[in-house]
Amino acid sequence: MEKLRYIDTHAHIVDDAFREDFDEVTGRLREAGIDRVMIITLKPEETEKAIALKREDPLRYQIAAGIFPEDVRGITEESWQRFCRLAADPMVDCIGEIGLDYYWVKDPEERALQREFFIRQIELARELNKPFAVHSRDAIQDTFDIMKEHHWHGLMHCFSGTKEMAAEFIKLGYYIALGGPVTFKNARHSVEVCASVDGRYLLSETDCPYMAPVPKRGKRNEPSYIPYIVRKMAEVRGVTEEEMTETIWQNWERFLRMEPVK
Ligand SMILES: [Zn+2]
Repeated sequence: MEKLRYIDTHAHIVDDAFREDFDEVTGRLREAGIDRVMIITLKPEETEKAIALKREDPLRYQIAAGIFPEDVRGITEESWQRFCRLAADPMVDCIGEIGLDYYWVKDPEERALQREFFIRQIELARELNKPFAVHSRDAIQDTFDIMKEHHWHGLMHCFSGTKEMAAEFIKLGYYIALGGPVTFKNARHSVEVCASVDGRYLLSETDCPYMAPVPKRGKRNEPSYIPYIVRKMAEVRGVTEEEMTETIWQNWERFLRMEPVK
């Protein structure tokens, strides 16, 4: 049987959680056939580390750089400009993860600031002609409204909304990335979304070091666990794992090229 090629569209492998055994983690993902990994970077040092890794293995790695919703608090004009320069680096493929997180932030002014920087970063993605990746927690309606008004190529990372909401995002051309929760017993939404949406918009992700899939749930997650997620997605959709990996592969290529779905 031909070796399957997997994709992890959301991996924080330059996070401190992997500092001790970084080489082992990247070694395991190569061995497991994780042929595409988008590294999410949320600080300039992380982006630089990811760029160094991509230089060694440019086809395997994609890089997303973004200002995370909770980090907009401390932003200065200088740090924004520095971020814009880094985002423009040709080694950076995507702007993310960006978005809204109302779970931890209740202050209305701070939520407004999150919305401002979400919009600014979508507009930056458009200027740079790069897609964007979205984090949304307890803020799905505001997220949707902004992505409708400021429409550009993007994906919803770790989508946890209903299947109806997923369909609304897809109508606007946005992709839906699913991770560990699709393997959880109590994650009804994730399974329903996986089963019901147009497969041409589905992507797989770990969100490592968080959200480890069953049977690794509760442990530190890593890209080499992607097959557990894709296997479950295939099962839910009633296709072979081979078909599922191929669909996700086509979707990812199309997403990065920002081509319309045909
Ligand atoms: Zn993330």
